[in-house]
Amino acid sequence: MKIEPRKYKAYTRRDLSKLPQLDQVPAEMRTAMSAVSAVFPFRVNNYVVEDLIDWNDVPNDPIFQLTFPQQDMLEPKDRKHMLDLVGKDAPAKEIEADAHKIQMRLNPHPAGQMVFNIPHLEGEPLPGMQHKYRETVLFFPSNGQTCHAYCTYCFRWAQFVGLDELKFAAKEGEKLAAYLVEHPEVQSVLFTGGDPLIMKTATLRRYIEPLLDPALAHINSIRIGTKATAYWPYRFLTDNDADDLLRLFEEVKKAGRQLALMAHYSHPRELETPQAQAALSRIIGTGAVVRCQAPLMRYINDDVDTWADMWRLQVRLGAVPYYMFVARDTGPRDYFSVPLARAHQIFRDAYQRVSGLARTVRGPSMSATPGKVVIDGEARIHGERVFVLKFLQGRNPEWVGNPFFAKYDENAAWLDQLKPAFGAREFFYERELKEMGEAGRREMWRNQRSKRPVNVYTQAEWE
Ligand SMILES: *Cc1c(COP(=O)(O)O)cnc(C)c1O
Repeated sequence: MKIEPRKYKAYTRRDLSKLPQLDQVPAEMRTAMSAVSAVFPFRVNNYVVEDLIDWNDVPNDPIFQLTFPQQDMLEPKDRKHMLDLVGKDAPAKEIEADAHKIQMRLNPHPAGQMVFNIPHLEGEPLPGMQHKYRETVLFFPSNGQTCHAYCTYCFRWAQFVGLDELKFAAKEGEKLAAYLVEHPEVQSVLFTGGDPLIMKTATLRRYIEPLLDPALAHINSIRIGTKATAYWPYRFLTDNDADDLLRLFEEVKKAGRQLALMAHYSHPRELETPQAQAALSRIIGTGAVVRCQAPLMRYINDDVDTWADMWRLQVRLGAVPYYMFVARDTGPRDYFSVPLARAHQIFRDAYQRVSGLARTVRGPSMSATPGKVVIDGEARIHGERVFVLKFLQGRNPEWVGNPFFAKYDENAAWLDQLKPAFGAREFFYERELKEMGEAGRREMWRNQRSKRPVNVYTQAEWE
């Protein structure tokens, strides 16, 4: 079967009344979609609508839940208010203003992202970068701050509804390279967004090529966080600059670094189309590694088989299961969130059903203010039922790797709802975290660099 080129076509709130697939959806549900999409971002495309969603199963279809606004994403009072406005055809200005008030109440910037992690170069802040964990720098290229479609549960939703005015995004790549020269402790640069693969390859190349300079030999890996593999696989297949993108991946490999595509797959369906599988195959053919991650979300993937099937298929197609995340404490999280106890059960049961090759995955993990905290298990210790927790990443690297304990709580859905076990007053890291916040926070770590010189031979050298 030959995959034909396809022209990308986006659908947004304006198109809700025009999409033929929605004809079969009851009128009040369409009005509700219009009301909810005034508050949360909405964008799908022709591939998602025509090839991923099973319209016979709407509204329960997981990809429909993943991409189309759902009425219960707003709590009843807000929903009623927005429905009234939309129902009486209120002026756009009024709808926007009231939507804005709701948005501001929904914790638009979780985990202290705006203030806590911004790195500095020669005393100047570098917006569009984050350096929270010693080994990895996040980079938000300014023209990579949108996506081929939006996820209803997106934790960066605030930037897509205009709350951030791209405060978060970096305009130029030179500062990134300059910062990295000064920071030999960094091993990995993660391009994120939005979706960096929204950019034309020529633009992406301008960011990536400077990182391949021998002066930055400490950069082991360049990562690109993306949902294009799921939402627009044509980016790697038939788009005008698809071949050029694959060449760029090859260049990274030839420069002796790993290109890791951090692919966001929420459901096995996203891996089941010929387009998705062809895209993966071409990406892996460049020598890039594909690592897969997604949050656990009610109505979308909150079941054991979904995860076990997804991890198995990823391994089969040559990708590596990496993280299962917990829904963050922002936006429509009340609608999508799964309690930690249940999240852990789903993770463990799915993990038990896959071979060791898929057990590279870790989770369920919370990207919280102090770091990435995984629920490693449940236990009973001296009669007390507890969660066993562990830092996978910490603001202080010394927090990583040792278990700590929280009282078991069937309903807790985030770290801040957990209480320390065994009568402790606070978790072991809390005092230090508070001091970091008060100190205005710079790097919490010493530059620990391996003394062994890097000895990597590139293909040009051994051929
Ligand atoms: C997850 C994450 C990283 C990368 O962590 P890894 O464990 O290396 O994948 C880096 N920075 C931030 C802020 C993160 O949330």
